[in-house]
Amino acid sequence: MELTDINYIKRLLKRHGFTFSKALGQNFLTDPTVCPQMAEACGAGAEDGVIEIGPGIGVLTAELAKRTKKTVSVELDTRLIPVLAETLTDCRNTEVINADVLKTDLNALISEHFPGMRVFVCANLPYYITSPVIMYLLESRLPIESITVMVQKEAAERLCAPVGSRSAGAITVAVNYYAEAEHLFYVKRDSFMPSPNVDSEVIKLTVRKKPPIEVADEEFFFKVVKAAFSQRRKTAANGLSSMLGISKNDINEALTAAKLPSAVRAESLTMEQLGTLSNELREITNG
Ligand code: SAM
Repeated sequence: MELTDINYIKRLLKRHGFTFSKALGQNFLTDPTVCPQMAEACGAGAEDGVIEIGPGIGVLTAELAKRTKKTVSVELDTRLIPVLAETLTDCRNTEVINADVLKTDLNALISEHFPGMRVFVCANLPYYITSPVIMYLLESRLPIESITVMVQKEAAERLCAPVGSRSAGAITVAVNYYAEAEHLFYVKRDSFMPSPNVDSEVIKLTVRKKPPIEVADEEFFFKVVKAAFSQRRKTAANGLSSMLGISKNDINEALTAAKLPSAVRAESLTMEQLGTLSNELREITNG
């Protein structure tokens, strides 16, 4: 395929006077096997819509266009817009929006472009904003089926870790609240131009119909999770008291009520235990 042919890409980009921006996380895929695999794994079919973030020169966009009804790709770099107009001329079911994904109202985008359709997200993410983008997609409560994304291998480990395991962090809990995360496949660093300094992995987050636990106050729950994980080598109680300004006494009372030891560490807590702890803390601090 032309769009993964290094010589073609070099000629194309030279003609457009384009040079790669490290700051925008621009590493374009050149391994011809990766995009078809990603587009298949995302699960969108002939009647479905896809949102892509950061199309680059459109290598994944073209694969999504072949399989789905419509793809809308959000690209921040204005210099790539004329490039995409050229590479996607034959993909009439694609549209490119020149915008920062984090400043785009994706609920409005979905109502406008995909009425009555199932919607999927599929993207080779710019790594400098992996977590903010994933959290933005999940917290916006978009009517989407799943998010299939390429991320840095280390980020994949954190995002897909079981809650209650050593590799879990606040983001693991947050992702798990909204979605079921799974590893799909590894992608070596030499599959890109230019090669990044890290290996990558494609993961899939299947959006849950409802969260796995019920919490009294969602916003407070996420504050508690962030605070509990904030001092990784210390106890959850330490993080909670320093980040939330709650007295050690109140924290110990909440831990006891949640049947947890006072020296418990955040990474050993299950989803249910974190939910109970936040509910107890909320009750105690609300007086
Ligand atoms: N999809 C292409 C590929 O696989 O070859 C390019 C992927 S490259 C890792 C990330 C892309 O995201 C770049 O095209 C970059 O310009 C774009 N980008 C960076 N920050 C963005 C943002 N905030 N919103 C939308 N696109 C962004």
